[in-house]
Amino acid sequence: MNALPPPRKRFGQHFLRDANILRRIVAAAEVTSRDLIVEIGPGRGALTEQLLERAAGVVAFELDRDLASWLDGRFSSRRWRLHSGDVLDADLAACIAQARADFNLPEAPVKVVANLPYNVSTPILEKLLLARQALTDIVVMLQREVAQRLAAAPGGKDYGYFSVIAQAYFEVRRLFDAPPGAFQPPPKVMSSVARLTPRANALAPPDLETSFRRVVGVAFEQRRKMLSGSLTRLGLPRSAVLKALAAADIAPERRPETLPIEAFARLARALAEPPAADELSQGA
Ligand code: SAM
Repeated sequence: MNALPPPRKRFGQHFLRDANILRRIVAAAEVTSRDLIVEIGPGRGALTEQLLERAAGVVAFELDRDLASWLDGRFSSRRWRLHSGDVLDADLAACIAQARADFNLPEAPVKVVANLPYNVSTPILEKLLLARQALTDIVVMLQREVAQRLAAAPGGKDYGYFSVIAQAYFEVRRLFDAPPGAFQPPPKVMSSVARLTPRANALAPPDLETSFRRVVGVAFEQRRKMLSGSLTRLGLPRSAVLKALAAADIAPERRPETLPIEAFARLARALAEPPAADELSQGA
């Protein structure tokens, strides 16, 4: 087996060393012998070991090539597939399909269980969001602030673009915290484990995902501003914005930070409605 490389800060490496926290992550994901697990950033394999003991197979993505070859030496005889490289470049659906075929698990629930690298946790979560159709559950360790934003309810300072988009497609729960001392080397921030379970029925219209994201994004670009003003940045005249707000039953002076997800969904729908014929002729 290759020598174990030292922790690399640039890869966000903070290895879990608290056995109790490791157990709680695996318990939260309710890992069973039917499950295919996706682990992002196995690191030195502390979580991987627990997952391999319980699951039907593990497919892992590790950016650090030295660690990847060390891990392959450690787990080569187990039901495990490693993709060495950046998970952000990976075709997740294809890797999952390949692991299903390799392990003969055509029907297995697919769960993401990971202690994510905090420096790229947002793009990784975005990627998982887009891959949600292939996933049964996601249980991830995050920087506490990120977990708070993901799970935030309307009205607070943490509620923003990411809360709305995540909760539109997932039931999000922040489960428990982990102090810096649970990791080696310790990070400078507190951590939290969150669970994201894909909703059977998304709160946002599935046919309007792109415009829903755009409306939410534009609304939160100026989170203290009234929606009637900020939504004109969609490139629409104020009259069209006011009409859509009325159709969505939202007062024009509302600010995005108080608006529930369902209201953003109504707004995306109203903004997508084609203008009536008389409006078109007025505009001509
Ligand atoms: N799972 C291990 C544990 O809990 O001890 C390590 C977690 S550590 C916080 C994050 C891991 O993700 C590191 O092993 C790091 O090399 C890896 N990593 C960082 N960026 C990555 C990326 N873009 N794609 C895949 N792995 C990445």
